Amino acid sequence: MENPRLENLMTDIKLYNTKTRRKEDFTPIDPDNVRMYVCGPTVYDRAHIGNARPVVVFDVLFRLLRHKYGHYNVNYVRNFTDVDDKINAKAAETGRSITDITDETIKWYHEDMDALGALRPVHEPRATQYIPQMVKMIEGLIASGHAYASEGHVLFDVNSYDAYGALSGRKLEDMRAGERVEIADYKRDPMDFVLWKPSSGDQPGWDSPWGVGRPGWHIECSAMALDLLGETFDIHGGGLDLQFPHHENEIAQSCCAKPSGEFARYWLHNEMLQVEGKKMSKSLGNFFTVRDLLDQGVPGEVIRFVLLSTHYRSPMDWTSSKVKEAKGTLYKWREYLTGAKPSEPHPDFISALGQDLNTSKAIYELGVLFLRWMNTKSYQDADATIKAESVFLGSAQLLGLLSLKLGEWFVGDYDFSWHEDRFLVLRDEAMDTKDFTALDEMKKALTEAGVKVSMSKEGVKLEAGPDFDSGKIVDLT
Ligand code: AMP
Ligand code: ZN
Repeated sequence: MENPRLENLMTDIKLYNTKTRRKEDFTPIDPDNVRMYVCGPTVYDRAHIGNARPVVVFDVLFRLLRHKYGHYNVNYVRNFTDVDDKINAKAAETGRSITDITDETIKWYHEDMDALGALRPVHEPRATQYIPQMVKMIEGLIASGHAYASEGHVLFDVNSYDAYGALSGRKLEDMRAGERVEIADYKRDPMDFVLWKPSSGDQPGWDSPWGVGRPGWHIECSAMALDLLGETFDIHGGGLDLQFPHHENEIAQSCCAKPSGEFARYWLHNEMLQVEGKKMSKSLGNFFTVRDLLDQGVPGEVIRFVLLSTHYRSPMDWTSSKVKEAKGTLYKWREYLTGAKPSEPHPDFISALGQDLNTSKAIYELGVLFLRWMNTKSYQDADATIKAESVFLGSAQLLGLLSLKLGEWFVGDYDFSWHEDRFLVLRDEAMDTKDFTALDEMKKALTEAGVKVSMSKEGVKLEAGPDFDSGKIVDLT
């Protein structure tokens, strides 16, 4: 087909919509302006490995949508929650200012997520930049009878919205029964949630019709999504832990504030990540940040591969054996790349991603494309080989893998000639003296540095293996 965009438009995308509990064909409201909102981090600390899961998952969806609808036709918004009591607590604990903490954490977040090959969303609004929009939305909700002011607070009246609980499939009575928190006397119903609350002392606060205060957590996403994406947009995403109450509350606020709109049409939730079969927690000692992993020498590309190897709607277990396996696979793939240019991804690969973002199947398809390329090589048809490599690479890059930028860890062409010469000297000495200690020591050190040592009558060949650590090699000289 002559127009690649037309061809791309024919690739189907099906997404599991939490709202309807069905896999649905994805049809955007406007194919020239596909709109997606994903709830971003609360910025008071480094992102942990679980936080990275939605980032990488929705990054793949962003890439797939751009592939299908065009590079400039996807508007992806992910917020920074920079007003939150956890941030206030950290400021109190450390004596630092709130903006100091949030600015630093946002910088870290960008560094760490960039290292995973996640593209920056089109907009990354901060909650504190949207206070006037939130106040306006809250005023509207009070005026239409969906919210009420009480003792400096403003609360959303959950009984005023019939569909409350529809997303998560809960009934108000059951929620009340499950409510363990003591009922605040400024609430009419224990399930009513805070839109605005009073601030005092060091707490961050803004003037409002209800006194100096700050927003509740949920209203920021409703206000930012309305401002940047409109009253009806295509996709809303986030972790499954946000389904209730956060997303339920976003829907209630947005749909009551703009009854003519639908808010988000497709709701996507990623399942949670565990570590070695256990819920991640600081007390279990299995809690780590993306930065911890990067500092331990796990390449960002390997982290990304592991995160994508499980389908986003399945719980995922982070294990060190998966890390090792992923590194081996990526190493092998990178070892064979000759510099061919990426071409259009293979239809089987795209079709796997189109099936509710089946990244594990897509990775399997990459393996198939790699083998096909290796087979073509053995026929010694140069044109076909380049083509096969290009399709493999174009497919991998749609998944955000095998880019130049993420390949810094790969050291396949490390120059080992000095070590090879030294190795041969030691071998000759050992043959003469029958004392193999020095040779064995060198061999052991090389193996520990992740170097493959192959000896033959002709000499020795040293090659970097997947766990190669050039830092250790430097110590050897
Ligand atoms: P937070 O900063 O806690 O609001 O979380 C930011 C994002 O990370 C949200 O989309 C959460 O749903 C997601 N998230 C938090 N913990 C995990 C986890 N263990 N596995 C997967 N996603 C998570
Ligand atoms: Zn949100």
